[in-house]
Amino acid sequence: MIQILENFSLKSYNTFGLNAVARYFAPFNSKESLVEILSTDIFARSQRLILGGGSNILFLKDFNGIVVHPENKGIEIIKENASTSLVRVAAGEEWDDFVLWAVNNNLAGVENLSHIPGCVGAAPVQNIGAYGVEAKDVIHEVTIFDFKKNRFDILNKDQLHFSYRDSVFKHEFKDACIVVDVVFELSKKHVYNVSYKGLDSKLKECAIVNLQTIRNSIIEIRNEKLPDPKIQGNAGSFFKNPVVEEEDYLRLSEIFDDIVAYKLDNRTYKIAAGWLIDTLGWKGKYHRDAAVHDKQALVLVNKGNATGVDILQLSKNIQDDVFSKFSIILEPEVLFV
Ligand SMILES: Cc1cc2nc3c(=O)[nH]c(=O)nc-3n(C[C@H](O)[C@H](O)[C@H](O)COP(=O)(O)OP(=O)(O)OC[C@H]3O[C@@H](n4cnc5c(N)ncnc54)[C@H](O)[C@@H]3O)c2cc1C
Repeated sequence: MIQILENFSLKSYNTFGLNAVARYFAPFNSKESLVEILSTDIFARSQRLILGGGSNILFLKDFNGIVVHPENKGIEIIKENASTSLVRVAAGEEWDDFVLWAVNNNLAGVENLSHIPGCVGAAPVQNIGAYGVEAKDVIHEVTIFDFKKNRFDILNKDQLHFSYRDSVFKHEFKDACIVVDVVFELSKKHVYNVSYKGLDSKLKECAIVNLQTIRNSIIEIRNEKLPDPKIQGNAGSFFKNPVVEEEDYLRLSEIFDDIVAYKLDNRTYKIAAGWLIDTLGWKGKYHRDAAVHDKQALVLVNKGNATGVDILQLSKNIQDDVFSKFSIILEPEVLFV
């Protein structure tokens, strides 16, 4: 039995804590209830938004359409051999509950992605990443409901066109499907990825390196660095790290010897957006109740009564400043609705 709620406040469904109201809100907990929602007149005639944990979304106003919200649960091993397990995880599972499950079951691959907020269904959309690992490294296939074909379908890894915080779901499949579950390929033979700056030194404090100590170390680092959305509304990194040509990187590194950048290949570098913003002195600056976090320049926070428009304005001021001083365009990582 489905329920489509009307004039539903999304305040506790977005980590900025913005009080946007959805004209309709439709949670589902099974494939059957999803199909029921998708067969309604309301769905057919409304603008649509799929909303997981709302940890990468900025609501600029009320949403005059239907919000479909996965609440389906389930984590199961569907196939295994001596070295790997294929694990199907429902879109409505909390991402970090899945990471905890993997660590407890001694399966490697997602431990570096510990403590990222949000639901499993968004992981392939965003190609979430942290500490040198991205979702694409472990995703095997994704089950979607395709709104055009009006049926469930499976997309394998090659069809997902992953790149940095990007996937097919932001292009060909934008607003055209919902992720229902994700199959991950996790490893029984552990190869740890612990070279990332900060993680290596934290792990030196541990007697042994294993999935659990990597997870604990990452949670500690994240808690030290990032504001807790339950205390101060935010969506993690607001901007993507810009990728620039080598000549632009060399131009900047001649002027700024402390530039934070990573070589991607022979021609391109990824520059830390947080460094660009911090260098221009934005930490702690604000526009009305929207502020740049005082410890982490890449994170914009709601000091209490910010609107989505306040946060957007602050982000535009930062983008303009970065462009005028560095000639670099900062692209938001967060989706504006
Ligand atoms: C404190 C904090 C720290 C963070 N750290 C990181 C980090 O280290 N690395 C990182 O990559 N991200 C990070 N994020 C961003 C965020 O957690 C991720 O982008 C996460 O995957 C978003 O999940 P969600 O369920 O909240 O998605 P939402 O914000 O609800 O949605 C994000 C996008 O995915 C779409 N979507 C969601 N679910 C589905 C579905 N089932 N089917 C189809 N489309 C769907 C939405 O329509 C939207 O376009 C952080 C955020 C916060 C608040």
